[in-house]
Amino acid sequence: MKTNSFRLVLLGAPGAGKGTQAERLAEKFSVPQISTGVILRAAIEAGTPLGLKVKELIENGKLVSDEDVVAIVGQRIAEKDCENGFILDGFPRTIPQAEALENLLEERGLTLDAVLSIEVNDSDIVSRMSGRRVCKKCGASYHVVYKRPRNGNLCDNCSSELTIREDDKVEVVMGRLEAYHKQTAPLKEYYAAKGLLVAVEGKEELSETSAAVDEALENL
Ligand code: ADP
Repeated sequence: MKTNSFRLVLLGAPGAGKGTQAERLAEKFSVPQISTGVILRAAIEAGTPLGLKVKELIENGKLVSDEDVVAIVGQRIAEKDCENGFILDGFPRTIPQAEALENLLEERGLTLDAVLSIEVNDSDIVSRMSGRRVCKKCGASYHVVYKRPRNGNLCDNCSSELTIREDDKVEVVMGRLEAYHKQTAPLKEYYAAKGLLVAVEGKEELSETSAAVDEALENL
């Protein structure tokens, strides 16, 4: 694995633990975590034009347009802190997004180092999602059983009250899983064909998943 830069994409169903691993890996490799979900929820919270446009889609478990997320990511990866790489969490989610990412990187003479898929079956996803909590202010995510906040229902980073995401309700989760299988899962083959895909099983125990992820990345 290259040590001077690291560009990684995380794939996985909603609730597979992408965000948690992205946060950890970003710290480990000293590169920013770019989570389109966090950026979009922040836009909704701030009531920006983008936020107003995507609110209903997100709350109903639908994907935001490729054009909007590609614009977000294009701007973000051009920032100075992405010079040594990034961990993309939640993007790309469709083949056109993956192609757009390739173009964005190509323009800068860059390539991805790896695409890590965290695999969890659907029934486990549905039961896990009910325990998820997020901080609306800083975007950090927690789980009432698997990743408990240190202090009651408050965020470890900014002490704001944690909430349940509107789109983590069971009916919406089912729709998001469907979107994942239809639109995002084909990316696994897309990246496998490019020799970039590594897959690990997402376990309930965070430390087990983290160990599997680290091992997979060391073997790159
Ligand atoms: P999860 O991975 O748990 O589904 P995210 O926080 O990544 O959650 O995304 C939440 C929602 O934000 C998605 O269901 C979708 O509506 C929207 N979203 C995030 N990233 C993208 C993307 N790359 N393309 C389209 N929509 C996106």
